[in-house]
Amino acid sequence: MKEFVYTAPATRVVFGKGAIKHVRNEIELLGVHKALVLCTPRQSAAAERVASAMGDRAAGIFAQAEMHVPIEIAQEAREIARQLGADCAVAFGGGSTIGLGKAIALDSGLPILAIPTTYAGSEMTPIFGITEKGLKRTGKDPRVLPRTVIYDPDLTLTLPIGLTITSGMNAIAHAVEGLYARDGNPIMDLMAEEGIRSIARALPALKHSADDAVARSDALYGAWLCGTVLGNVGMSLHHKLCHTLGGSFGLPHAEVHTIVLPHAIAYNACAIPGALVRIERALKTDNAATSVYDLARSNGAPYSLRQLGMVEADLDKAADLAVANPYWNPRPVERSGLRALLQRAWDGTRPE
Ligand code: NAD
Repeated sequence: MKEFVYTAPATRVVFGKGAIKHVRNEIELLGVHKALVLCTPRQSAAAERVASAMGDRAAGIFAQAEMHVPIEIAQEAREIARQLGADCAVAFGGGSTIGLGKAIALDSGLPILAIPTTYAGSEMTPIFGITEKGLKRTGKDPRVLPRTVIYDPDLTLTLPIGLTITSGMNAIAHAVEGLYARDGNPIMDLMAEEGIRSIARALPALKHSADDAVARSDALYGAWLCGTVLGNVGMSLHHKLCHTLGGSFGLPHAEVHTIVLPHAIAYNACAIPGALVRIERALKTDNAATSVYDLARSNGAPYSLRQLGMVEADLDKAADLAVANPYWNPRPVERSGLRALLQRAWDGTRPE
């Protein structure tokens, strides 16, 4: 076995159908008094219910979370938390809302209790992103890692089916890259394989019936595992491409992950035999790249960058940006291979 370093994740996780009922108790266990609930405008009615479960521990609701965490919104939320005397933030929603919580924590030190309602996994990572003057700055800081996470599958029942599938694929992408991370370790490998298995089982069931309680639970459990992997080991080419396509071309996060992943796996396949064994065992297949493509496409997800409205002429620029400052990758990243990968992702070709 190769040498490894393993640091146990520091977040308390409370998982279960109806687990939101523990929110007040969990706030008290953090040793804080009042929490500001964060959410997007779209989730404000559900956030009201979270606040009422918090009783007198709720300081108020800030329902203006947005994609990419604009710094002005983070500053406003921080100021409102101060005015209301909140000493904790409850981030209720997907990666955008949890990102807002992280931006508040970064310079106020307020602890975050996260209640994720998508499968993006931000709640399990110390990674933050803040957009200032049109530029997204990202970094890692242990202060932004939520102290407690409540996973309640009932809160994901309202997640539209399209986002359910792409968000699940986004989670699978974290696990796939974790399996060939340079700083990987055997615990993350176990979590990654189980995360892929659990989500891959859940997605077709949810496509069939979006309120299947067992599948919602499987998907959220898988999201926790995959998010933990994302928070603990380094990501490679796939994440670099997705950050480039999302950041420089404004393409939607979960959809881009869904489209690029099979092509990133195919690109790396010759260099990742151990990871392929685990991915293929989890997917019950002998071809990881095609199975990932089929899992997404057969459940109605977009499968080409063209469908997202990306202009073909931008593929050269995307390839230039992605090779300019590459993340470590198991197979060396060279421009012509990357350009061909992007072309296949744009065309939506099924990998062989
Ligand atoms: P999102 O948070 O942007 O949510 C998308 C939309 O779905 C929002 O309008 C939201 O209100 C709505 N929504 C979420 N859950 C819902 C539910 N259960 N029912 C109904 N509507 C719901 O999407 P996301 O994919 O979770 O997050 C993407 C963002 O998170 C990106 O900006 C990405 O960079 C970031 N992210 C960060 C990390 C990290 O570690 N820092 C990890 C993953 C993602």
